[in-house]
Amino acid sequence: MPGTNLTRDEAATRAALLDVTSYTIDLDLTGATATDASTFGSTTTLEFTCREPGAETFADLVDATVHEITLNGESLDPATAYADSRITLTGLQETNTLVVRADCTYSHTGEGLHRFVDPADDRVYLYSQFEVPDARRVFTTFEQPDLKAPFTFRVSAPAHWAVVSNSPTPEPRPLAEGTAVWQFEPTKPMSTYITAIVAGEYHAEHDVYEGKHGSIPLGHYCRQSLVEHMDTDELVKLTKQSFAFFEEKFDYPYPFGKYDQLYVPEYNMGAMENAGCVTLRDEYLPRSRQPRSFYEFRTSVITHEMAHMWFGDLVTMKWWDDLWLNESFAEWACYWCEAEATEFDDAWTGFANARKQTGYRADQLPSTHPIAADNVDLHAVEVNFDMITYAKGASVLKQLVAWVGLDPFVAGLRQYFKDHAFSNATFADLLAALEKSSGRELKGWAQEWLQTAGVNTLAPRFELDDQGRYASFSVEQSAHPDWPTLRRHRLGIGLYDERDGGLVRRQYVEVDVEGASTAIEELVGVEQPALLLLNDEDHAYAKIRLDERSLQTVIGGLSRLEDSLPRAVAWTATWDMTRDGEMAATDWVRLVLANIGQETDAWGVTRIPASTALAVELYSDPAGRAALKGEWESGLRELLLAAEAGSDHQLTFARSYALAAHSDQAVADLRGLLDGSFAVEGLAVDQDLRWALVTNLARLGVFTDADIDAELDRDPTSAGREKAAAARVAQPTAEAKEAGWAAIMDPATPNETSREMVLSIFRPGQVEVAAPYLEKYLEAAETAIDRLGFHKGSVVLEHGFPRLLASPETVARLDAWLADNTAPKGAQRYVGEARAELARALTAQERDARA
Ligand SMILES: [Zn+2]
Repeated sequence: MPGTNLTRDEAATRAALLDVTSYTIDLDLTGATATDASTFGSTTTLEFTCREPGAETFADLVDATVHEITLNGESLDPATAYADSRITLTGLQETNTLVVRADCTYSHTGEGLHRFVDPADDRVYLYSQFEVPDARRVFTTFEQPDLKAPFTFRVSAPAHWAVVSNSPTPEPRPLAEGTAVWQFEPTKPMSTYITAIVAGEYHAEHDVYEGKHGSIPLGHYCRQSLVEHMDTDELVKLTKQSFAFFEEKFDYPYPFGKYDQLYVPEYNMGAMENAGCVTLRDEYLPRSRQPRSFYEFRTSVITHEMAHMWFGDLVTMKWWDDLWLNESFAEWACYWCEAEATEFDDAWTGFANARKQTGYRADQLPSTHPIAADNVDLHAVEVNFDMITYAKGASVLKQLVAWVGLDPFVAGLRQYFKDHAFSNATFADLLAALEKSSGRELKGWAQEWLQTAGVNTLAPRFELDDQGRYASFSVEQSAHPDWPTLRRHRLGIGLYDERDGGLVRRQYVEVDVEGASTAIEELVGVEQPALLLLNDEDHAYAKIRLDERSLQTVIGGLSRLEDSLPRAVAWTATWDMTRDGEMAATDWVRLVLANIGQETDAWGVTRIPASTALAVELYSDPAGRAALKGEWESGLRELLLAAEAGSDHQLTFARSYALAAHSDQAVADLRGLLDGSFAVEGLAVDQDLRWALVTNLARLGVFTDADIDAELDRDPTSAGREKAAAARVAQPTAEAKEAGWAAIMDPATPNETSREMVLSIFRPGQVEVAAPYLEKYLEAAETAIDRLGFHKGSVVLEHGFPRLLASPETVARLDAWLADNTAPKGAQRYVGEARAELARALTAQERDARA
C-alpha cells in the first residue's frame, strides 16, 4: 500500500516513461460561501505522451470522491481504478488524454485548498498551498517536480470575488446566479507544486515595476478586515528594489509576467514561491507596533520568495533530494539582496543573531542530517525539511561564497539559469557551473560540507612570550564524536584592543583552516589583544570559543565593540558556551542585562532576551533559580524604564518583562499597563501588547476566563480569537491544561489557533499541572501526525513537549520510550530532540550550580 507516499524510484520511472503536454483544470468554487461548504468540484484534463505504448502508470489524487475517469475516450470504473490516493492507468498510447471529474475536500490544516471564514465579517477566503506534494489534493496530477507542463486554470466562483493564479487574472465571464468563470491563459511550463489558486473577497492594490527588461504588473492582496494594516507603499518599494537587484545580478528577465503577493490567513509557514503568485502569512501585516526586526524579517521573506522565481521556479530540482539547495539558495540570496538593495543594510548581522542560531541548534540535535539529504520518498522529505535545510544551508553557501569569491559565484549562477531555464537540474549541474566559473575544484568541498552532518568547534591555542606577544598561534578544530568530519574553513580573525573606553580592531587576518590544527604564522610575534575574535566577519559556520582573557573582556563589556557584526559573533560564542555548560547561565544573564540596552542590531535586541528567558528557566541551577528569576525580572524593569521613549528596546523589554513577571510588583505593573494606571512614556499599549499582558496575567492565575472574554470582546478578530485561546491555556489550572490539550489534539481546531495554543500551554512555574503531560505527549506522539496532518502534527510534537519537567527521571523515561516504540519516524525524531534538549539543560544546570 503506497498510500500518499511516493518514492524517488517511482517518480524516476514515471518521468522516464512520460512527458506531460498540458494540464487543464476546472475548479468549481461557487459553493464555497455556503456555511457547510466542505468540498469543491475539480475536473482535470491531462494530456501526456508515453515512450512505451502499452505500458502502465498512475496519476495522483488525494482525499477525493471520484465521479468519472476517462482515458483516451474510454471510461474507467473509479471503484477499481482509484485506490489508495492513486489512479491506475493501463494500456497507455503514444499520446494520451486523461479526464478525471471529482469532488475534492477543503482543508483546515493549511495544506491543499485552505478555506477560512473571517470572524470579523464572515467573508470567505481560499488559498492553495501545495509544497511538497499537495497539488494532488486539489486536482489530478503527476505529483513530482520534473514533470513540468503548462497549466490552464478555469475557475468558477462567486462573481464578486477576486480570483488569482499563476497567469494574469482575466476578466470574469458571468454565469448563473451571481457566479462567474475566470478563464486563465496557459502558464509557462512549471512544476505542480508552484501552481496556485487564491480566491475570495480579497482586497487588491496594483502597481507596475518598470525594469531593465520591461514592465512587471504588481499586485498586493489581503482580506478586507486587514486593509487598513496593509502598508502597500512600503511593500511595493521593497518589491521593486528586489526586482532591480535580482534582474541585474541574475542577468535573466523575470520569467513569469506578473507578480502578485497575497497575504493570506492561517498560513503555516512564512510564504510560498508559487510562480508569479506568492502567498504570505497575513501576520506580516501587523495591526500593532512591531520592532524593526519584524520588518527586517518580513523583507527577507519577500526577497526569499522572489529569489525562488529564478532558483526553484525557472530552474527546478529534479527530485526533492535537492530541496535543500532550493531553500538554502533562496535563504542566502534573500540576505544578500536585503543587505545590498534595501534599507536593511546590516541584514547579515541579523542573520548571525537570529537565523544562523537556528542552524547551529538544529545541527547539534540527534536529528541532524547532511544538508544534502537522501530523500528516497516523500516521508523522508518531511523528516529532512528543517533548519538544516534553511539556516545551515544558507550559512554554508555564505562560506562557499567566501571560498570561491562572489563574482565567480554569480557568474556560475548566470550560466546555470541560462542552461536550464524552464527545466530541471541537480546540484551536480550547479557545481559544474561554479567549478567552471571559479576554476576551483569543488567536489571535495561539497562532500565535506554537504554530505556530512554536524558543526565543528574552532578554538584559539597559543603561547605568549615574556613581552605578552604570541610565541605561537594555531586554530584548533574539533568535532562531535558522532559527526567527526573536520572541514576546510575560510576564517576571519580579529584582534581588538581597549582604547578610549571602546574595543577597537587593531588587526584582521583571513586564513584557510584545515584539519585538527592550523598554525597561523601571521600572528606570531603579535601582541596579545584584549579580545581575540575567531570568525570575525562571520564567514564561517562553526562553534567558536573565546580564550580566558577574551571571555573576560566580553563579560566586562561586549557593547564596547563598535560594530554590530563582531558583537553578534561574541554574543553567539558566549551563548553557545552557555548552552554547552561552559559558561554559567547566571553569567549569561548578567552579560545580557549589562549590555543589551546598548545593542543596536534589531535582531540582537529581540532575540537575545528570548534566549535569556530560556537560560533563566531551563539552564539555571534549580537551587538558585528563584533568585536569578528575581534578578532577571527586576533587571528588565530597569531596562524598560531606562529605554528611550518609543524605541524598539522599550517595546522588547516590555514584552520580556511581561513574560518574566512573577513578583507582586510585576503583577501590579502589568495590571497598571493594561488599565493605564502605570504609564511608560512612549510605550503604546496597543492590542498585541495588551494580549501579551493579559496572557501573562492569566499564566500567573491573576486573570481568569472572564478577563480573557472581556479582552476578546474588545478584539473580535481572528487574531483576537487565537490570542484568547493562547491566554486560556496559559492559566495554571488542571482544567485549563485539559481543555487546551483536548483542543490541540482535535483535528477540527484551525491550524493557527492550534499553533498559538501549543506555544502557550506549558509555562515556567507550572510543573505540577504540567506533570501529567509527559505521558500524554508520548501517547500523542504515536498518532499526532496521522490524526492532525503533517504540519499541525509536527507543530504539536516540536513545541508541545513539557520541557519544564527537565529532570534525570524525565530523561530516563524518554530513553525508555525511544528504546521501545512503534511511533512514526517523524514522531521519534521530536522525542529524541526533546530528550537531547533536556540533557543539555541538566548539564547547563550543573555548570550554573558551580558558579
Ligand atoms: Zn523557500
